[in-house]
Amino acid sequence: MKSIILVFIVLVFAGCMGKAPVTDRSQVMLISQNEELALGEKSYKEFLSKAKLSTNKVQISRVRTIGNRIAKAANRKDFKWEFNLVEDDQINAFCLPGGKVIVYTGIMKIAQNDDQLATVMSHEVAHALARHGAERMSHQQISGVVKQLGSILVGSAAPEYAGAFDMAYGYGTQLGIMLPYSRSHEHEADEIGIHLMKKAGYNVNEAIIFWKNMKKVKDGKAPPEFLSTHPSDDNRIQKISETIKKIN
Ligand SMILES: [Zn+2]
Repeated sequence: MKSIILVFIVLVFAGCMGKAPVTDRSQVMLISQNEELALGEKSYKEFLSKAKLSTNKVQISRVRTIGNRIAKAANRKDFKWEFNLVEDDQINAFCLPGGKVIVYTGIMKIAQNDDQLATVMSHEVAHALARHGAERMSHQQISGVVKQLGSILVGSAAPEYAGAFDMAYGYGTQLGIMLPYSRSHEHEADEIGIHLMKKAGYNVNEAIIFWKNMKKVKDGKAPPEFLSTHPSDDNRIQKISETIKKIN
């Protein structure tokens, strides 16, 4: 029985290897791109039905202009990009699979110019391009339960994953839980994000200033939710500097 399960797992993994863009890192994916896009659409609609969209035309237009430039740089024909600004003081932003980007008004106070706003948006888009949420869900499945592989193999939209999906994509605050991205995912999103920024014509040096601003916020009072999932330590700033040196 054990060997049957092993063969089963190997077969599943063999069919589910992916590669992250820019870094070319190999990834194990137990969720297909189509499943992921379907879950992205569904979660996005649910989120928008509860969210309070900003009515500030100037700021909305800023978010969309920057978003469209990043989307062009990302060059993903299968994504249906959308960029929305949500009225919320939380310092937060996320990108769902398929290119649904949400920026909270709270982060507009930290991002002091378009290049800095492009930093956080590129970073979030990078998490989606590299399918970090799907990878995290896959890792959870691997470490957790073999029995669930069955339902993944069936290939349905797997509604039981919806909650895990929301957490994996970093907007689970409504559920009171948010999974932090791993350090390696953070560094990878930074690296891909810097490439996107550069390709989109933004000043990549502003990324350093943005994360330093975030660090100041963190060093202040209670760290915002975004910082509990996106640590802004010196190590991160150092690695971003190295990436900038490499591409300049
Ligand atoms: Zn991140």
